[in-house]
Amino acid sequence: MIATPIGNLKEMTPYALEVLNSINYIFCEDTRNTKALLLKFDIHKECFSLREHNETSMTNKVLSFLEEGKNVAYMSDAGYPGISDPGKILVKKVREAGYSVTTISGSNAMLSALVSSSRDSDHFYFHGFLPAQEGKAIEELELIKDKKETLIFYEAPHRINKTLKLLLNVLGDREATIARELTKLNEEFIEGKLSELCEIDGSTLIGEMVILVDGNKEEIKVGDEEIIERANYLLDKNIRTKDVAEIIAYEFKVNKNYVYDLIIHHQK
Ligand code: SAM
Repeated sequence: MIATPIGNLKEMTPYALEVLNSINYIFCEDTRNTKALLLKFDIHKECFSLREHNETSMTNKVLSFLEEGKNVAYMSDAGYPGISDPGKILVKKVREAGYSVTTISGSNAMLSALVSSSRDSDHFYFHGFLPAQEGKAIEELELIKDKKETLIFYEAPHRINKTLKLLLNVLGDREATIARELTKLNEEFIEGKLSELCEIDGSTLIGEMVILVDGNKEEIKVGDEEIIERANYLLDKNIRTKDVAEIIAYEFKVNKNYVYDLIIHHQK
């Protein structure tokens, strides 16, 4: 599995080129794009297309080459294969057949966006593309809106404004980053509240983009009385005090020891 540049050709690593030069067969998402890329590095090899609509059948072709003892490389149009790109079925089937799979590292849009943004990079959640259908996109956002981690989305330029508005409506007015045209001449990081990003003239947001949004930073405000009421309810169900404290700490996003002490104190 070979990562390819997301913009700047210099992201193609010497290791990737060495492997591509020595490999028996190259499978790729779009043969025109991959051949054009390989030509820039003076690599002339036959490429087979393996993409979403033929991933299962072409995987069988890969397996037949592997059975003959050949080596096969797979690369998508940009970044890592398998990350919002084809490749997952291939890897699963190849592993199931008992062959080894390895990754030749390189560029990836989500990580390049994250590490140079102001968003928290200790904990993050990659969602990729939201569904084009608004109702489905809202459903998916509702499921992840309480996550504390930085949320990362891929988006196409023609949908960026619509998606920013959707994010604002479902997640609230959080701090966010648009990372645009990464590694290219016009690379740009635009940061601000989602409401501010929604105000940007859509015609200026061209090229490829990653959207990063702060996780949910709202503290659930809960009083001692509410904690004790919930604790009594759980204790009546014969759940151990230690476990009750843990459950309540999770439910109300409060410190476990604080809850435990409160229960013990109240029981005296
Ligand atoms: N496999 C790729 C990876 O590892 O990042 C992702 C491929 S996905 C089909 C394409 C999406 O990745 C774009 O719509 C955009 O959201 C993001 N992307 C790719 N290249 C980018 C770039 N140079 N700058 C910003 N975003 C990029």
